[in-house]
Amino acid sequence: MALYKAEGILLKQFPWSESSRTVVFFTDRFGKLALVDRGGRSFKSKRGRLAPFTRTELTFYNSEKQTRGSLSAADAIAAWSFSGEGDMGRLAFASAACELGLALLPEEEPHEELYAYLCRYLSALDTAPRSGLGGLFIAYVLRFMSMLGYHASLTFCATCQSPLSPVDGLRFGPAAGGLIDATCQGTQDRYIRLTANEAAALMRLQSTSLEDAVGVLLTFAEITRLTDCLTRFLQFHADLTTELQSIRWLDKLKAAQPTGPS
Ligand SMILES: [Zn+2]
Repeated sequence: MALYKAEGILLKQFPWSESSRTVVFFTDRFGKLALVDRGGRSFKSKRGRLAPFTRTELTFYNSEKQTRGSLSAADAIAAWSFSGEGDMGRLAFASAACELGLALLPEEEPHEELYAYLCRYLSALDTAPRSGLGGLFIAYVLRFMSMLGYHASLTFCATCQSPLSPVDGLRFGPAAGGLIDATCQGTQDRYIRLTANEAAALMRLQSTSLEDAVGVLLTFAEITRLTDCLTRFLQFHADLTTELQSIRWLDKLKAAQPTGPS
């Protein structure tokens, strides 16, 4: 049996008995990693609660006989609090990034650059002005997709490869893999119609830094439409099987309190 250490962020936990669970982390050294946490749900467990949005030092055992490693210790290094103005939005956009990681990261394939990028994104979400949260989220998703090999075609028409400018009437074709100009918009595909502002934001956010993404101002309706474009793209080209529950939750929350959280 060998002992390993890695730093990770909790993506999800799956309880399978009163006291035990499987925990899935995105780690710096091993990529997405599922570990058995025997006894971890028990009140007597020394490990206590595993907190979300926390850089955690993990110690785990692995033996050739078992398919999954076994969590031995989990020590918090630093946590993001998301307590600033618009905290519900901050939490939802952070949760959505974890949902995407759980759905799309390959198992036990190291991706240190992407891990560092997630940490930078969570730090930016923690401190950005409320008005910049949506731009930050869309920029993160676009870069995350590209880093995993799912690059949306946004500067050239996904069908005829003509250069695009952000004018009214461009549509996003999830199956085609990006924006479609007016000449290529057939009637069979289910395209999402975008305003000039939405198309311009999408184009800009694909190539901008997280720091600059905060300056791209989007309404909540624009954020949900752009999120819809990207999740439908990922449902078609990758392993995403559902909508992002965190964004739906935020949507419902907004509908219930029109002047509330963003
Ligand atoms: Zn075209």
